[in-house]
Amino acid sequence: MFPKYDIDKIKYSVDDITFEKAVDLYNNKKVKNFQFYSNGFAAIVEGTQKYHVHVSLTNINRGVCDCYLGQNGILCKHIIALGIYAVLGGTKMKKEDMEPIGELKLRGIIGELNEEELEWFKKKTSEALKYLKPYLGPSKTWDANQASLAKGCNMLTDIFNKITISLQTTELIIKTLLKVDKKLSNAGIDDSNGIVGGFLENAGYFLNDFAKINPECVKKFKLLYKQKTSFDWDKPLLETLENTI
Ligand SMILES: [Zn+2]
Repeated sequence: MFPKYDIDKIKYSVDDITFEKAVDLYNNKKVKNFQFYSNGFAAIVEGTQKYHVHVSLTNINRGVCDCYLGQNGILCKHIIALGIYAVLGGTKMKKEDMEPIGELKLRGIIGELNEEELEWFKKKTSEALKYLKPYLGPSKTWDANQASLAKGCNMLTDIFNKITISLQTTELIIKTLLKVDKKLSNAGIDDSNGIVGGFLENAGYFLNDFAKINPECVKKFKLLYKQKTSFDWDKPLLETLENTI
């Protein structure tokens, strides 16, 4: 039985350091006694001790582990290592799968997305935006809510990192960022940890770098005129625009 998530979904759910540690556990064959049961997977993961680990079939965020972090409801490297095992079944992990998401970074390739890639972009971004959920309480749901915000931003980071540079993609990214901004201002999202705001700020600088590689992209920055944004992420873009005219 295969889980309902893949390696990308696992990456979106955790910070890069936890992911890299989990990859090490997996590659060093520390996941033992792997078993499938009715709605999840179980294994012993060997770390400093032997840990008993379970993870859900449908959701990587639902796992239990008897290590210190796991006992406190935190998605630990053991749960992630088991999730990786559930996806790959003990086979060799591909190099690109091992790469954590990291920061927003330009691929530096100029070009437009073809029809299929455009579909991919639209589907993935709308999926990512769904994770930017309002916080409705009660307070015990706070951590899960913040994890969901992080997941949405990680996913958007991953999408943007895979993109080529052109007028078309500049417009796509600006429109996506405006949607994120709108959600953040109107949708009852509690971003007091600055997860989404931080993402927007980085994305503004990221997009500004498009113009350094392909100066034509600046034309699309005009889409930001007369837009009411709640954060300063569009500031570097508008400055570039003014300096170009
Ligand atoms: Zn653990």
